[in-house]
Amino acid sequence: MPPKYHIATSQASNRFQKITRSGIIAWEEGCLKCARCVKKDCVYQVYEKRNLDGRQMLDSIDSVCMDCFRCVQNCPNRLIHKGLNPSYKVIGDHYWTPEIISNLWFQAESGRIPVSGAGYGGPFSGPGFDAMWTDMSEIVRPTRDGIHGREYISTTVDIGRKIMALELGPDGEVLSPAPPLVELPLPVIFDMLPWSPPGDNIPLAFLRSAKALGTFAIVRQTGLNPAIKGFLSNIIIYVDGNPDDLDTQFLRSARIIEIPGGEDPIALQRRFKSINPDLVVIIRLRLGPKTAEQVLALVAQGAEAIHCVADEYGLEEGSNPLFIKERMKEIHLHLVDKGVRDQITLIGGGGVAMAEHMAKLIICGADALSIDIPLLVAMECRVCRRCKEGIACPVELESVDPQWGSVRITNLMAGWHSQILEILGAMGMREVRRLRGEMGRAMFFEDLEREIFSTMGKRG
Ligand code: SF4
Ligand code: SF4
Repeated sequence: MPPKYHIATSQASNRFQKITRSGIIAWEEGCLKCARCVKKDCVYQVYEKRNLDGRQMLDSIDSVCMDCFRCVQNCPNRLIHKGLNPSYKVIGDHYWTPEIISNLWFQAESGRIPVSGAGYGGPFSGPGFDAMWTDMSEIVRPTRDGIHGREYISTTVDIGRKIMALELGPDGEVLSPAPPLVELPLPVIFDMLPWSPPGDNIPLAFLRSAKALGTFAIVRQTGLNPAIKGFLSNIIIYVDGNPDDLDTQFLRSARIIEIPGGEDPIALQRRFKSINPDLVVIIRLRLGPKTAEQVLALVAQGAEAIHCVADEYGLEEGSNPLFIKERMKEIHLHLVDKGVRDQITLIGGGGVAMAEHMAKLIICGADALSIDIPLLVAMECRVCRRCKEGIACPVELESVDPQWGSVRITNLMAGWHSQILEILGAMGMREVRRLRGEMGRAMFFEDLEREIFSTMGKRG
């Protein structure tokens, strides 16, 4: 049995005060001046430890309160209330919601899984990944318990092309050339960011964490510099410049490279592999209505791995864009139909915001996935996109300490790793490779709606 993959976590406190969901409103007027005020009874000593963060001009009271409601319930004159924090409601946008962002912050701080209490209080269904439910039918049979280690559940995936049959020589020697494969202990790579403050600190935090986790971070060729080059074994260079400018020495030592899917990517793949035959080449495609056909053609030409990328909301390009899970299902099933699915590695990315999205995208046919914005959120990003406009970042991310940032990202990935183990365990699966394309282990709202309502109004 391979050694168990374990992600070490450590507490990495926030640099800035959190924006919390609820705030305390305590009226002074009408105070009865009780001999023992309920504020003194707060077990978290929220009122006594109260201070002002001069940098953000924020009162500590809301970020330290644990929402137990003791003071609210026990004030005899009902002078203490809790209300929704208006600053919380405006974090992020319709997709990167305050709930998602605050959950990511929580996981990044401690590596723990957020617990939401008994039952699910949210809507029954919604757009995107919320229109998909996973089958947890084995949850009552605790034989697969990956988190607590009673049984090993593997989250390892391979990046590269696979051979479907071995050709043997007369003496039984293997004649088929074995294409290079790179093993990832977690089905995740770190992608380039759609926007971020400038500087090296953020990419360095990504790379330090990628190294700690045993995975890779994609870095633009045009963004390479000596500080970043120190992490060569965890870098996937994205060739966004002139391929001739890439250092041959670097190409000989690199393990994975990513190239744009523009004109004749296979010719470029051949060129790189003539320098380093052990290099795995990923072709990056912008997800769109024609991606399934494009992928099939590239598989026929010898592509090894294809990275299908949606935008930050998980949408493909085009006037009537599909959500990534729909297009990924189509690509996967198209390759299955043509009998070539197992030859290629498919990586999906764009709009992956939570651990459950990771499992859902794999169920829809991805072998692995790329993530971007959650890594920035791990370092307290508020998804305000001010940096995109060149406006100062409210949490000064450009000056983040790469060591602290890498611990936060590693903590977040530890939380996601635990959650995928939890999902696999609840499905009775022992490895994440088995989850790929297992659409029978999920229910899709659109399919259910069609099945249930399509016969309505029709006469038998
Ligand atoms: S709600 Fe609970 S934790 Fe918050 S201030 Fe009141 S007593 Fe303290
Ligand atoms: S908090 Fe806003 S400005 Fe700072 S990195 Fe995030 S999106 Fe950019």
